[in-house]
Amino acid sequence: MVIAPFLLATAAATAVPSPPVATPPNLLLVTLDTTRADAVGAWGASDASTPVLDRLASLGVRFTTALAPAPLTLPSHATLLTGLDPPEHGIRSNGGERLDRRVPTIAAALADAGWATAAVVGSRVLDRRFGLDHGFASYDDRMPAERIGEHGYAERDARAVTDAALVWLADQPRGTPFLLWVHYYDPHAPYTPPAGFGGSGRRAAYLGEVSFVDAELGRLLRALPGGLEDTVVVVAGDHGEALGEHGEEGHGVFLYRSTLEVPLLLAGRGLPAGVVVDRPAGLRSVASTMLRLAGLPGHELARRPALPLSVPGWGTTDGEPLYAEATLPATAYGWAPLRAVVSEGLKYIEAPRPELYDLAADPAEARDLAADRPTDAARLAELLDRRPGGAVGPAPEVDPATRAALVSLGYVDGTSANDGIDPKDGIELLAGLETATKQLRSGDTAAALRRLSALAARNPANAPLQTRLGEALLASGETEAGLAAYRRAAELQPRSEFARRNLGDAMAELGRLDDARAAYREAIDISPRWAPPWLRLADLAPDPGERAAILGRAAEVGVDSLTVYLRLAEAELDANPTASLATCRRIAELDPAAAEGALCEGRARLALGDRLRAGALLRRAAVLGRGTAVGDEAARQLEAMTAADGR
Ligand SMILES: [Zn+2]
Repeated sequence: MVIAPFLLATAAATAVPSPPVATPPNLLLVTLDTTRADAVGAWGASDASTPVLDRLASLGVRFTTALAPAPLTLPSHATLLTGLDPPEHGIRSNGGERLDRRVPTIAAALADAGWATAAVVGSRVLDRRFGLDHGFASYDDRMPAERIGEHGYAERDARAVTDAALVWLADQPRGTPFLLWVHYYDPHAPYTPPAGFGGSGRRAAYLGEVSFVDAELGRLLRALPGGLEDTVVVVAGDHGEALGEHGEEGHGVFLYRSTLEVPLLLAGRGLPAGVVVDRPAGLRSVASTMLRLAGLPGHELARRPALPLSVPGWGTTDGEPLYAEATLPATAYGWAPLRAVVSEGLKYIEAPRPELYDLAADPAEARDLAADRPTDAARLAELLDRRPGGAVGPAPEVDPATRAALVSLGYVDGTSANDGIDPKDGIELLAGLETATKQLRSGDTAAALRRLSALAARNPANAPLQTRLGEALLASGETEAGLAAYRRAAELQPRSEFARRNLGDAMAELGRLDDARAAYREAIDISPRWAPPWLRLADLAPDPGERAAILGRAAEVGVDSLTVYLRLAEAELDANPTASLATCRRIAELDPAAAEGALCEGRARLALGDRLRAGALLRRAAVLGRGTAVGDEAARQLEAMTAADGR
């Protein structure tokens, strides 16, 4: 086996924490999105291929039972950065809230103490508008290719994320310590690992994504200046991924081990090697631990309990209950939200029908003991009730007019509509929604509509269900009812840019262009740097001038999208080829290897009469984009130009 040099560098690490050193360490926080603990070899996955993580774990401290505070990306990352549970830091969902600037973060603490700080994230779900950029001097959340993931958020793959991180690292002056947070999003659905990673079948494809991230992590670690000698490396999953357990696919609904147990390891400067900690550890203790390892034990964030490591004077979370919550059942589906507490080997889940599990005797969480052990259940329920700021109980029903008024005033986030369904029952509705979607896609509109109508009667506050119902109604020719369903989906999720985009698309399809434009503008108000509604608005523009104006505004607000720049350059081409050329240059700045940039510049050069440079650029675009629509387009243009030259 070939051992990477960075790993060899720390082979001499001792079993006790080394004494504090004069120069402050670099800190590297790597978060692995959607990575369940047992997707990593070191955590017992026999079918995983994660040599870098396995080796790193053996060189540091591995936590066998680390728990996420929520099975959702944004709340969990907010916990990692603030050391607070979601009810305390206030980020309870994806896309719903913004982190208050007054909440201390590790990035702000380290920046104040002289660290250079940077973050590179792999998905728009961590867009700076949600406030996690607080304290990061550089927060790279550009998604130039606008590759759209399962839930509509733009993303970029681990290779692009590592590339961006390496560029930042290379620019750092020696002698200044840094905090670098790198977020890999790949294991999130859909599971589409690059060639050479993963096998056939759902789990194999998922593990392939994890394996790809592992390889990219290796590339990142090899580029660390000073290696593990100078750096504290923290690797944490943000939440796991259900692969059918308890009927769940993905994450967000339940609070079982598949989505809450994540890999967590620390390695590098000041850390012992080969230590395995079995005591439960919460992600909320990572921030405090990192600040202590950085030599800032006096910061208010560092005074909170650290991870359960046997370091004299640290004080740990040992024996403290760990909390988790799932708000997605309420915010997306109109069901009851869930809360859980893990204490003394038991897990209690608060739900319309509460559950209690003995985690040691029943690791699959298959035998609910709530009825058999009411005293234990009551004791844990009380822990939840004593939790400050913890209440996420079903919001009271209010009449629609009152609710609309509250929403417009910003008092409620639209999660108030609640059908009170226990997620254990709701999960079946999601399976029904999936079946109906397949029927709709295969053209069996009548069957889909029957199924969706029945589901919507049971669960009217389910936003994705309303969207699909709208689609089925429109496909059946029931225009007004269909649009009403789309509108209801948007009302149910007042902070969802996706619901507004969907409504806009439905309106545009029906030729109601003013309504479509209004819906797209609402989507833009919610998420200004998201390209799709800008592109659709541009599509609806009556002429190239208006189109260029819309796309120019998109570029101004920072929509770092190759497609937006490409379309803008196209709209500018005839009237102003010089402006078009400048726009093309911005593509090359975003991604020098993008075929789009070369194609764009080639066209602009051609319009300016510079046929020599145009030819070279189009050839470059054809090579860079070989096998893609962009490459084909470049080849076509090149051929047309050569043919014209030949005449
Ligand atoms: Zn996530």
